[in-house]
Amino acid sequence: VSLKSLTTQQAIEKFKWPKIKPFQCEITPNFDCNARCIFCYSSPQLSTWQKRKGFSLQEIYKYLKKGKEKGAWICAISGGEVTIREDLFQIIAIAHHLKYPAIELTTNGIRLEDIDYCKKLVESGLNAVRFSLHSHLEKLHDKLIGRNGAWQSTIKAIENMIKLRVKVAINTVLIRPNYKFFPSLIDMLVDNYGIDSYSIVAPHYLGMLEERKEELSIRYSYILPFLLKGLEIIERKIKIVDSPILSNFLPCLLPSYYKNLIAEWELPKRDDLLILPQEGVKGIVTTKYYLSMKTEKCKECIYYKRCVGFEKSYYQLFGDDEFIPVKKEHRKYRIDTIYGNF
Ligand code: SF4
Repeated sequence: VSLKSLTTQQAIEKFKWPKIKPFQCEITPNFDCNARCIFCYSSPQLSTWQKRKGFSLQEIYKYLKKGKEKGAWICAISGGEVTIREDLFQIIAIAHHLKYPAIELTTNGIRLEDIDYCKKLVESGLNAVRFSLHSHLEKLHDKLIGRNGAWQSTIKAIENMIKLRVKVAINTVLIRPNYKFFPSLIDMLVDNYGIDSYSIVAPHYLGMLEERKEELSIRYSYILPFLLKGLEIIERKIKIVDSPILSNFLPCLLPSYYKNLIAEWELPKRDDLLILPQEGVKGIVTTKYYLSMKTEKCKECIYYKRCVGFEKSYYQLFGDDEFIPVKKEHRKYRIDTIYGNF
C-alpha cells in the first residue's frame, strides 16, 4: 500500500467535494482532552475551562443542521479532543446524515493508532483528518503535548488514515521550543507522506500559552526565517496546497509572493462558523477581530481597511515594530492554493 497521502485534487474527485469557496461549520463537542499541551488555549489544566460541559448529540445535531442550512459544506469537528467521546461515531454520522460533503476531524491522533477504530470512523462518514503534530522529533513532540508515546501513536495514526485513503492534513503550532525544527518537520511530512494540506499556526497568547509566556513566547521575526525555509520545501516539492495554510500571520510579515497562503487576516463577506459549548454560534475571523488591534502606523498600509490586525496580547508582549506597512501589492505567488482561488 502506498504511503503517499491523497492529494487535495484526488480527494476532491473521490469525495465529490464542491469546487466553490470553502464554507466551514466548526464545532467543538467538548473541551476535555487526553493530552496536556503546554500551549493549549482551552486546557483542562486551567480551572476556568474545567467546568465547561460539552454538547449533547441533540445539541450537535441542532447546530450542524443550522450550519448546513446557512450553506456550510465542510463540517469540522474540533476540540478539546473529541476522540475521548464514545459517541464520536454518532457525531460523524449526524454530519453524514445532514449531507456535509467534507467531514473533517481535528485530533492529536492518539486514539487513531488503532486501525479498527479508524475504519469505524471512516465507515461513519469521516473523509478528512487534521492531525496535530508539532515536531519531527519524538521526544520534543511528547514533551509539548504532555504525554509520553504520543508521537509514535500519531505517526501510526497518520499512516492508518493514509492507508484508508482519507484526506490527511497537519496542524502545527510554532513556539519557542520547536520553531527552529519546522523545516525538518515539513521535510519529513512531504518526503514520507506527500502531504499538501497544513495549518501552520503562530502562537495565540491565551490559556496555557499566556500562563507560560516567559518560557514559550517567540517573536514573529525569529519564526520567519524557519517558516520561509519550510515554505521553500513545499514550493519545491509540492507546488500547490489545498488552501491558505498560515494561521495568525499578517501580510506585512511575509514576502508578497507568499501572501496568498495567509488565512484569516481579513474579515470575509461570509465568515466560517465557530460553535462552542456555552457560547453558541460565532464567526471564526470575527472572534479573532475582537482579540486584535492595529496601531497608528497601520494607516499607511495598503491593507489597512481590510486587515484585522495583530493580536492585542502579542502587542503587549512585543510591541508593533515588526509590522511594517505594505506599500505595494504583488500578485505573483510561488505556491498556489486550490481552494484559495475561489
Ligand atoms: S494593516 Fe498593519 S497589521 Fe495589517 S498588514 Fe498592514 S501593517 Fe500589518
